Amino acid sequence: MKKVVILGAGLTGLTIARELTRVKGYSVVMLEKEAYAGGLAATLTKDGMSFDLGSHRIHPDTQADVLRYLRSDLGVELFKRPRKGALYLQGKFLRYPVTILDFIRAISVRKSLIYFLSYLVNLLRPQKGPTTSYKQAMCAAVGERIYADLYEDFAWKLWGIDPVKISAEGMHRRSLAFNWKAIRKAVLGMDRYFFYPSRGIGEISKRLEEEITRNHGEILKESKVRCVRLDRDRKVSSVVYDDPQGKSVEIETSMVISTIPVDTLHECLMGSQEGAEPLKWRGLRVLYVHLKQFPSLENDTFYFPERRTRLGRASVIQKFSPELNSTLKGALFTIEFPCSSGDPMWLKPDDELLQIALEDLLVTGIYKDTPEVVRSFSIRLEKAYPLYDLGWEERFHRLFSQINAVQGLYSIGRSGLFLHCNIDHSILQGLELSSQILSAFSGGTWKDRSGQFRKFSARD
Ligand SMILES: Cc1cc2nc3c(=O)[nH]c(=O)nc-3n(C[C@H](O)[C@H](O)[C@H](O)COP(=O)(O)OP(=O)(O)OC[C@H]3O[C@@H](n4cnc5c(N)ncnc54)[C@H](O)[C@@H]3O)c2cc1C
Repeated sequence: MKKVVILGAGLTGLTIARELTRVKGYSVVMLEKEAYAGGLAATLTKDGMSFDLGSHRIHPDTQADVLRYLRSDLGVELFKRPRKGALYLQGKFLRYPVTILDFIRAISVRKSLIYFLSYLVNLLRPQKGPTTSYKQAMCAAVGERIYADLYEDFAWKLWGIDPVKISAEGMHRRSLAFNWKAIRKAVLGMDRYFFYPSRGIGEISKRLEEEITRNHGEILKESKVRCVRLDRDRKVSSVVYDDPQGKSVEIETSMVISTIPVDTLHECLMGSQEGAEPLKWRGLRVLYVHLKQFPSLENDTFYFPERRTRLGRASVIQKFSPELNSTLKGALFTIEFPCSSGDPMWLKPDDELLQIALEDLLVTGIYKDTPEVVRSFSIRLEKAYPLYDLGWEERFHRLFSQINAVQGLYSIGRSGLFLHCNIDHSILQGLELSSQILSAFSGGTWKDRSGQFRKFSARD
């Protein structure tokens, strides 16, 4: 029996565990630091309400194979829903995803013409200078005028650092590249629908978890990985974790698949690296507010790219599925505030966060009068997004090459590859690595394949 230890029970780890436990000859143990499986794509419950960890949807360009996997293999019921997003820009709401016509209608013909001309002038102007930073890359793509009016504030708000310090990768990883595909979508108003599981995004991990358990795989929760040990030949030999009682436990194994953050794994392997510049992450504070009244606007998701509005995104996720919180009276808002661990937004007490949310819901006109709050609470996600600041690549490759040099250790998934990617990408990575393991890594090497995953970019 080959024992495989999987670190982290998010979608990538769960997919791998599901595939391996279906085959004779593998025993799988998963170690998860939280009390629940699903990672970033979990759905939790509190006071009888279900809530996702931030707003999640399955995008329409998800590969047919992944949709089939979800529906047929896992039995997840997926609803096809129309997108009813609204983008708050320059004091007005625009339909989101935005079409060019919506944009002209909301921003005025005159201003749209100015933007269009500045875009054309930029297109005809020869490229000058490097495009290593987000600001340089964005200005090269759309021109300085459009960048200053529409993108700069958004970058500050999302990443919390000056856009000249963000790598151009930040643009590509967020599907902000300007290519014909993007322009065609904007003109034709594509992406007008999405898929969503009937009982919340966490239904995917629930199905995976049920099947793994049925196949005798073990998912050990509240089990934080502390150390990955190697033998004299630098092959994986064991994993040490803290059990739910805080007792240190060691499991022997010759294969470890890690989906925990790549810097955490490196520390588990090599100890903390005093003095070395760390990889940076952007966190998220998510406030859940149960309001007695529904908003006056019909939309289910509101996007706020400008800094003068403190909310990042506000969603009424129960509108994604009639089976989610169906007996709840009123609206459950999921409100996301991008921030970093330890900064003022991160540290704010819940009542202050709620106050900010209520003020912004009023100022933007989502509510005409202050709505009555039934209850509210918040969560913190410390490593929600990889932050691609200048120089991240060298730092990442230093860690990753040391991890890759260890025999029997694979770092994969959103956090394991420091990859701003989506659910379907996580599932694809899980399917690919498990099939490589099952075919004893015949054909192309794993390193080549994992390099392909770096091309994934996230959609909103
Ligand atoms: C706010 C937000 C909104 C998103 N919206 C969408 C969307 O609309 N559509 C979409 O397709 N994708 C979306 N995504 C992306 C999606 O959530 C991820 O791609 C996917 O869930 C990542 O799965 P994963 O298993 O690779 O990583 P993770 O979910 O990060 O799993 C890693 C696991 O490792 C565990 N772990 C960490 N450290 C340790 C340790 N020391 N010991 C043990 N366990 C540990 C973590 O608790 C976690 O369970 C969103 C992400 C965020 C943050």
